Amino acid sequence: MDNSLPEVREGGCLCGAVRYRARGEPLRTLVCHCRFCQKMTGSTSYAESMFPVEAVEIDGELGTYAHRSQTSGKAVHLHFCPRCATTVTLTFDRWPQYRAVSRGTFDDPDSVGIGSHIWTESAQTGVMVPGGVDCFRQARALLDGTPVEPTRHPGPVEARGAA
Ligand SMILES: [Zn+2]
Ligand SMILES: [Zn+2]
Repeated sequence: MDNSLPEVREGGCLCGAVRYRARGEPLRTLVCHCRFCQKMTGSTSYAESMFPVEAVEIDGELGTYAHRSQTSGKAVHLHFCPRCATTVTLTFDRWPQYRAVSRGTFDDPDSVGIGSHIWTESAQTGVMVPGGVDCFRQARALLDGTPVEPTRHPGPVEARGAA
């Protein structure tokens, strides 16, 4: 076995019509509690792994929907299976070099560890974050790119007050 080959993770949508391969380790994996992600998933939050856009190879046709971010004014593109409606991946006008892969669509979601929770200020009541992860009240950086200092807790806390 050639150890210089990057690790490849596979995944796909609920019905199997869309499959992908993501090469190498994700740049980061995070959970977003913003209202956009809550609407998009119909759930409490969205877990995503960020990859360089060229690291992800997709088989199958994806539908797209562009949503303009209320904070940045730039579009976020949802890419979903037209048959089963799974949102498989996102791309961003603000960060064209990245592609987010929906953590829940990996064949093994636990193979990517969650390092941070963002937009905790809009987390739904009762949603918890574990200890030892970076928590951000809003995004990880200001609109001008300045990084925000994360808050960490030794144990689980309610997400809404976590940062
Ligand atoms: Zn599908
Ligand atoms: Zn979000």
